[in-house]
Amino acid sequence: MGLNVIPPSENLHAIKPVVDESTLVHRQVLRGPFWQKIPAYANVSEAEFLDHKWQAKNSITNVPKLLAALGKLVDPGFVEDANRGFDKAPMSVRVSPYLLSLIDWERPYEDPLRRQFIPVGSKLLPDHPKLGLDSLHEREDAPVDGLTHRYVDKALFLALDTCPVYCRFCTRSYAVGIDTDEVEKFHVKAHADRWGQAFRYIASRPELEDIVISGGDAYQLRAEQITEIGEALLAIPNVRRMRFATKGPAVMPQKILTDEAWTDALTRVVEHGRKLHKEVVLHTHFNHPAEITAITEAAMNKLFERGIIVRNQSVLQRGVNDSAECMKLLVKRLGHVNVHPYYVYQHDLVKGVEDLRTTLQTALDIERYVRGATAGFNTPTFVVDAPGGGGKRDAHSYEHYDRRTGISVYTAPSVKPGAYFLYYDPIDTLEPDYQRRWASPEEREHMVDDALAAAKARLR
Ligand SMILES: *Cc1c(COP(=O)(O)O)cnc(C)c1O
Ligand code: SF4
Repeated sequence: MGLNVIPPSENLHAIKPVVDESTLVHRQVLRGPFWQKIPAYANVSEAEFLDHKWQAKNSITNVPKLLAALGKLVDPGFVEDANRGFDKAPMSVRVSPYLLSLIDWERPYEDPLRRQFIPVGSKLLPDHPKLGLDSLHEREDAPVDGLTHRYVDKALFLALDTCPVYCRFCTRSYAVGIDTDEVEKFHVKAHADRWGQAFRYIASRPELEDIVISGGDAYQLRAEQITEIGEALLAIPNVRRMRFATKGPAVMPQKILTDEAWTDALTRVVEHGRKLHKEVVLHTHFNHPAEITAITEAAMNKLFERGIIVRNQSVLQRGVNDSAECMKLLVKRLGHVNVHPYYVYQHDLVKGVEDLRTTLQTALDIERYVRGATAGFNTPTFVVDAPGGGGKRDAHSYEHYDRRTGISVYTAPSVKPGAYFLYYDPIDTLEPDYQRRWASPEEREHMVDDALAAAKARLR
């Protein structure tokens, strides 16, 4: 019975009907040895599955390994399709056993986790003609290799170039992962020299208060490196806030539970920061409610008990989380494990993942449903990181948006005054007439010119 002991008819305040507890699915995270349904993990004990070293060692990096792990669980047609996908993928591939176990292998095409990590040749779409590698111009705004200083008071420090998993849709595919045939990477190595240069630059800029430590991924830093970077930045007087950015909790929460040296190193930096009245937090990246299990809950509880704030940045993706129901469930489940939903990003223009992008209108529609579903501080802001280096803009703040051409125009007066930034909806979502216009290079430029003229007219 729980709390609803007063029959609704006798409850004078029953303005709303009592909600049936079984419908509060955000609280129902996956428990038990769910990994044992994967043939390769059928005899893997809980202790082994929780061991972060076992997770890292058994991560899948190619199709033969995928096949070996799944055995008869997958259809040969799908394997063939994945083979073609891996061949064309501009990213390295790495999937943790944890993620692999969360995928529904009876319906791999529809599965939201499979879609994020394992490419299939048959679903790939041509790239948008306006797409370029490093579409956010992170390198143009970099005074030092691997340090992007775009906004006035905050900077992005790319400490290293590896990740616990590789996401198909990575914005930094220009820098992350080992080389593939498709992309010759611009390498950002974890070299002490380069770090020292970045720290000296930060110390030389009194206006810099906020440092994002990313990569790659802070999960890949050794405990001593977490301490080294954390302490070096805490020692710079102008640095007031820092965030360690990692996909880790979403793809390998085990590490927080079993890599005690790493979790303790992070805790010590947070605690030292607190003594200095400086905020040190963890930023992570959950995209789908199924990525949050009882293991995640235990890991997030551990961080919460240590007073470590965790915020989340999601990417809106077609067939992954592009419905109001899914996004509401994600946001409520994040709140349930004490992770604050911070941003939902419009998907960047990234090579080879046009099938994952949505229209801007999708973001605008979903935002309406998410706002009001839970506490305001647990309600993410939907943002567009417009190509060209304008930084993150509130999705609703476009100066102009033509749903037929799919072009939206943003300005960023405090970042790049006077400049215009354009975002492009995926072409396959447009009306056939407009898909045809995009096929013509001349027509493209007309559409872009018209959009810019409309935005400028509005601002005049
Ligand atoms: C995202 C980002 C930041 C941090 O921005 P917030 O809006 O404060 O989260 C800083 N620098 C760069 C280059 C970024 O892309
Ligand atoms: S974990 Fe982050 S940086 Fe690494 S591949 Fe995924 S999105 Fe890119």
